[in-house]
Amino acid sequence: MTEFKPERANEPTDSLSPAEGLGVVLDEHLRWIGQWHRAAFYRWGRGGERVSAPASFAAWCKAARRDDLTQQPAVEKLATVHEQMHRQAKLILLKAANGERPTESEYESVIARFEDFVALLRRVERAFGAAASGLDPLTGLRSRRGMDEALEREQNRFRRAGQPFCVALVDIDKFKGINDTYGHDIGDRVLGATAAVISRGIRSFDEAFRMGGEEFLVCLKETILEEGFRVIDRLRQDLERSPVVLPDGRSINVTASFGLVQAAADVGIDELIQRADRALYHAKHTGRNRTVRYGLDMATS
Ligand code: GH3
Ligand code: MG
Ligand code: MG
Repeated sequence: MTEFKPERANEPTDSLSPAEGLGVVLDEHLRWIGQWHRAAFYRWGRGGERVSAPASFAAWCKAARRDDLTQQPAVEKLATVHEQMHRQAKLILLKAANGERPTESEYESVIARFEDFVALLRRVERAFGAAASGLDPLTGLRSRRGMDEALEREQNRFRRAGQPFCVALVDIDKFKGINDTYGHDIGDRVLGATAAVISRGIRSFDEAFRMGGEEFLVCLKETILEEGFRVIDRLRQDLERSPVVLPDGRSINVTASFGLVQAAADVGIDELIQRADRALYHAKHTGRNRTVRYGLDMATS
């Protein structure tokens, strides 16, 4: 009787980074598919053939579950494809053990799952690798992990040398509607395109981060509010004039709202971000597609 038995129950994927652990998972599955082929096609009918399903994926899921990235839909999809692949592969082995040759479509279905598994695994591996390097994989901007540190650095420079800086929070307008109308994948494309407009629109020494979802933070160095407003409002206009064109020719107009604040000596980073958020909230509630300066533009409208 064909039997599935975890090969290495103590696979040490938990001592590796999530991306490295996925490398182990991939290596094991490449070995496994070879064993499976031999068992299913060349040793069929002999019975007693044992092909072990690698245990490394389950071990990886357990070790990586503390990481926020495992909440990504791609990880869930990977687990589903993994389960389907092994279930279908096992059915073929059971047949083979009874002396039955699998049909071509049964074979193709396992191979299709295997290919999906490898492609998805590589995608998740890249996402973990990018996250470890402090970059957001979807937009290529820096992720939130390095943001606090970068802002603290600016704040220290300001306190030490009196060099002013500004912080802008950016939130895409009615983004949920874009997802609902065009689907999540196109939504992702819009996020990538928006990030590209932001990167192009700021100066090389400024820094942009993806805060999460459809929100970004821009740190404008050596900048006072007036100058910051010029940079950010030009960015807002760039975005308004850069519709996202889809492969089928449709184009999506994208706008965003901006909340801008200038650093102050007695204001910590958390409070500074909260102020930018209040300005952003004001921009949302006074029509969207606007840049609101904290304090300055809030009392009048
Ligand atoms: P508002 O103008 O008030 O900002 O409206 P909104 O629809 O942009 O705001 P809301 O916060 O209600 O919606 C944000 C949406 O962004 C909801 C969420 O599903 C979506 N979202 C968050 N992260 C991602 C992502 O990584 N990809 C995609 N496609 N959508 C995302
Ligand atoms: Mg939002
Ligand atoms: Mg929004």
